[in-house]
Amino acid sequence: MTVILDGKKLRDELLEKLAVKLASYPVMPKLAVILVGDNPASKIYVNNKKKTAEKLGIISDVINYPATVSENELLEKINELNNDKAVNAILVQLPLPEHIDKTKIINAISPIKDVDGFTPENFGKLLTGEKPYVYPCTPKGILLLLDKYGIEVDGKHVVIVGRSNIVGKPLAIMLLNRNATVTICHSHTKNLQEITKTADVLISAVGEKLIEDNMVKINGVVVDVGIFKDETGKTRGDVDFANVSSKTAFITPVPGGVGPMTITSLMLNTVELFDIQNQKKS
Ligand code: NAP
Repeated sequence: MTVILDGKKLRDELLEKLAVKLASYPVMPKLAVILVGDNPASKIYVNNKKKTAEKLGIISDVINYPATVSENELLEKINELNNDKAVNAILVQLPLPEHIDKTKIINAISPIKDVDGFTPENFGKLLTGEKPYVYPCTPKGILLLLDKYGIEVDGKHVVIVGRSNIVGKPLAIMLLNRNATVTICHSHTKNLQEITKTADVLISAVGEKLIEDNMVKINGVVVDVGIFKDETGKTRGDVDFANVSSKTAFITPVPGGVGPMTITSLMLNTVELFDIQNQKKS
């Protein structure tokens, strides 16, 4: 029988602990979220983040801009938030419109307020094995989930499908730092199935129907990061859950697996940044 890696249950556990910790705070941490344009998925993600923060008492300020906003206006806002002592964490919701240079915007965030861990300083530290201020939310959430279920990666072959800066790349480094043997696959990978079948832990972060039951190792672990709407409008992941789950020892559902862990990590990171900033003051 496959074990479901239950992200909702772990989210509830971790957020309950975080709420207890926050109850002793004289001042609440503040998260600023920049949302550009009308992307419906982005709006839902931001709304979920805001609701989760509010439940914990974390102050969240969503700053909305039309899709026509200039790069300079966003850079000025980030500069203002960097200098605002009441703001502890800054998140720029991706994707951004094409006329805006995403890298320039992310690089403008002060590393000590970079709640996603995407700035060159935090990413560079991750790469060299130093501790960044915080770890990127989705990879951090995945590792929390694996830890909760006692899934060790040391010496294991972990295959990641997807090489984005927000999931695949940082996750690969975090797993490497835990002594996993990591293979990263992407759209140019030849014989994907031959590689995925050798994965003790297979993590798919693509955003399309991709992982079938003949692509996984018997009794392996499968983590599905993908989220998209299928032809019927149903939310689903990259993995054919119904067929794959009968072959694996552990598997994440979609929804209810990695998604709740990403939001949980965002809350944990906001509080971690608040703590770091306040320790620096004292
Ligand atoms: P992304 O930037 O679009 O990257 C997708 C990756 O998949 C790319 O590296 C791409 O390869 C690779 N790819 C595309 N088609 C492929 C194929 N047929 N075979 C092998 N690899 C293929 O996406 P992302 O931002 O990392 O997000 C990936 C998915 O995860 C999306 O569905 C997103 O909504 C979801 N997501 C979920 C969470 C969560 O909390 N659950 C968080 C973040 C993202 P190339 O590099 O060669 O183009």
